[in-house]
This record gives sequence, structure tokens and C-alpha cells, in this order.
Amino acid sequence: MTDMANADLDTTAGSAPNDLEAFWMPFTPNKHFKRDPRIIVRAKDMNYFKADGTPVVDGTAGLWCSNAGHCRAPIVEAIQAQAAELDFAPTFQFSHPKTFEVASRLTAMAPEGIDYAFFCNSGSEAADSALKMALAYHRLNGEASRTRFIGRSRGYHGTGFGGISVGGISPNRKFYGTMLPGVDHLPDTYNRDEQAFSRGEPAWGAHLADDLEKIVALHDASTIAAVIVEPMAGSTGVLAPPQGYLKRLREICNKHGILLIFDEVITAFGRLGYATAAERFEVTPDLLTFAKGVTSGTVPMGGVLVSKDIYDMFQGDGGPDHAIDLFHGYTYSGHPLAMAAALATLDLYRDEGLFEQARANEAVMADAAHELKSHGLVQDIRTIGLVAAFDLAPVDGVPGKRGYEAMCKAFHDENMMIRVTADTIAFSPPLIANETDLIDIFDRFKKILDAVS
Ligand code: PLP
Repeated sequence: MTDMANADLDTTAGSAPNDLEAFWMPFTPNKHFKRDPRIIVRAKDMNYFKADGTPVVDGTAGLWCSNAGHCRAPIVEAIQAQAAELDFAPTFQFSHPKTFEVASRLTAMAPEGIDYAFFCNSGSEAADSALKMALAYHRLNGEASRTRFIGRSRGYHGTGFGGISVGGISPNRKFYGTMLPGVDHLPDTYNRDEQAFSRGEPAWGAHLADDLEKIVALHDASTIAAVIVEPMAGSTGVLAPPQGYLKRLREICNKHGILLIFDEVITAFGRLGYATAAERFEVTPDLLTFAKGVTSGTVPMGGVLVSKDIYDMFQGDGGPDHAIDLFHGYTYSGHPLAMAAALATLDLYRDEGLFEQARANEAVMADAAHELKSHGLVQDIRTIGLVAAFDLAPVDGVPGKRGYEAMCKAFHDENMMIRVTADTIAFSPPLIANETDLIDIFDRFKKILDAVS
């Protein structure tokens, strides 16, 4: 263990030696991290804190999830009270009151016609659940030949086998064999020549949805179950949908009886200034996945919001009382702590008007981000909602190096958390960020850009 690791960790807690070795960290270069760790011990509102008490500005709402800010008292208290009252209750064949309350609250926030909510524990489970529901729906509808899924290049739908199969990020796929069979992909919607330095939805690119027609022509509609896309592709580096693109996808899906799944794991709960991206872009999917912001990241939770048509298909004509309608679920679907956290979080979003605040701050964030347009390292900036991404010029022959160095320097020297995908840096601060916070984030980022130039 390094000296730095010793300084950052409390090695006196517990009986086992607390060094850095045993934890195999996800999506992290483990060897380098363990030589030069970035450890957080506490959080409050807009900040994380290092062990020595230094605040670290949260430029990313953790991993796009702490939308209400950190350790907010009403959420903390609701979780504490729930843990003392009902720690666990199964939701297979039994349930507890808060599951129904959360489902009612979420479906009330969803677009019209989305009337049912299924719960799981993560975005990955949500994506896989939605894909399974789509398959089963078609089978129950007498169209068992509809088994293909259409994802999109540069899409991210988590790390389950379903999610990586429809996802379009090569390193997440190439190590894992053939994945699900029968998956095809739409092209991604990014074209720097046509869209550089976009604010909101780029004007160019709606026609890319028409590639779905080509895929239908190739495979025949009778083999296709669903199209799954992120309304705004987040993890790949923030690609807002071109104007009219999602509407066009919806039309083509309707024409061919294909279900449309929006993966709103990042975009739901205010990130784009609305409860859902579906609301912002005025396009209603058949299934809508969510996670992250639903509990502001406090307790793992995800889920799928589902149209009445789909739910009704599973109910059939009644059938015997003992017949289960959905052979799918997780031990922790509707976990009491997640439900308590979700209710308190949704109350906070409503009472503090955080979606509206994000909407009002969209221009502030865009202005502050685009100020950096002329920096020599910056090749593109994309902003939408309370999100901004910067493509940095890669170090010659070593893609990803500059982005990684920027993230390390941001943490150690500028006390800020930023998110990196290769040489693209993404910002998605908690929705409580005010104008001063947003300007401060990009002031710090300017210093980081200078440092890695
Ligand atoms: N779908 C989208 C659009 C995401 O952005 C993510 C995570 O960032 C996921 C799914 C996976 O969520 P989780 O990491 O909770 O499994």
C-alpha cells in the first residue's frame, strides 16, 4: 500500500487490514488507482470531502445520480426511519404500502399512457427487464417471431448481457463473446462537421432515424421486438438527439409494430429540466427505464415504466387465480429502503422545484461551458439540460491519456470530480447547483485544461 493510500484511509477501523488491494474496482485502471488513489469520505450538498476535510466540487452528481445533492436531510431521515420500521419485505406474492405509493407517484410523472411501474435495483437490470418484457409481450400477442432487438452505436444500457448486446460501446462488448443473438444497431447521431458546438438538440441528423427502415427491410418487421435508445446518449460522451429524430423513430416503430424503449436511466428526474426526456422531447415510448436520480443515488433502485397496453397483454383474459403474469423479478424489487428514499427524493424535487431550476439554469451552464470554446485543446462542446461535454484533442497516438490525466488533476489539484470517457469530459452537477456553482465549475475546468495542455 502506498503512503498516500495510508493517509486517506482509516486503517484502524475493523479487524482486517484496510489496504487498497482486495477491492476489484469497476471501470477503473486498478493498478494506477491503487498507486494514486482518489478517496472520498463524506458528502454534503454540492460537495464531496477528502479525508483531510478538503471539499471536492461534485461536477457529475456522482455518476449522474445525486440530483438532489448529497446527504439531504429529508432523504437521510426517511431511510433511517424505514430501516427501523420495516427492513425488508418480499414483493413476490406479498408487498408493502410504499411500493404502490412510489409506483403511483412515478406513473403520475410519466407521459400519458404509461401507467405501470416495475422495480429493480439498477439501470442494467432495468434495461434487461425492459428487453424481456418486450419479448414476452410479442409472444403473448401471438407474434413469437419478434425476437430481434435494435440498439444504437455508442449506446449504453448497462452491463448485463442484454444491455451490452444492444449497447454500442466496443470495449464493453468485445471481451464477452457473442452476447445476445439477433441484435442490430442504428448508427449513432453524432457528426462533428455538422453539429460542432451544439446547444440543445442539433439541427442536423433527424434523417438518421430512417436507417431503421433499412434495418426493417433487411430483417423484416415480423422479426423485430423493440428498438432501445437513450433519448440523450450520456455515457458515450453526451449526444443530444437531433431535432425531430426521436419523433421519426417513434413513427417508424408504430408503422412496423415495433416497441420503442427509452433508456432514461440518466435523463429522467430533472437532468434535462423535465421529469423525463420523453416529456421534454414530446415523444412517448412504450417502455421507459429509470434508475439513479429516482433515489438521488442514496439507495440502489431502478425500474421500468410500462404502457397500459403492455401491462394489459400480460393480464390476458383472466386465467386462474394462481397464474403468475410476469415470470421476472428481483429479491430486492421494491426494497423498503429504496421506496422510502424514492418518496423522500420525489418530494424534494417537487418542493424545491429542482426540475424547473435545472431548466432555468440550462442557459447558464451552456454559456459557462461554451466560453471555453476557443481553448486550444477543445475540439467540441455539447450542452443540453444540466449536462455539458467537452471533446479534448487526444495525445498523439495515446487516446484516453489526456482525459484520464484531466480527471486525476481535477481531483488532486482543483478539488473537483469530473467524468471521463476516453478524451471526452462530461459534467452533470446536482440540480441544486446555482449560477455561482456552475460558473465555478468551468473556472476550475479552465485551469485543468491549461494544466493538461
Ligand atoms: N442505462 C443508461 C442509459 C445508463 O447511463 C446507465 C449507467 O450509467 C445504465 C443503463 C446502467 O445503470 P447501472 O450502472 O445502475 O446498472
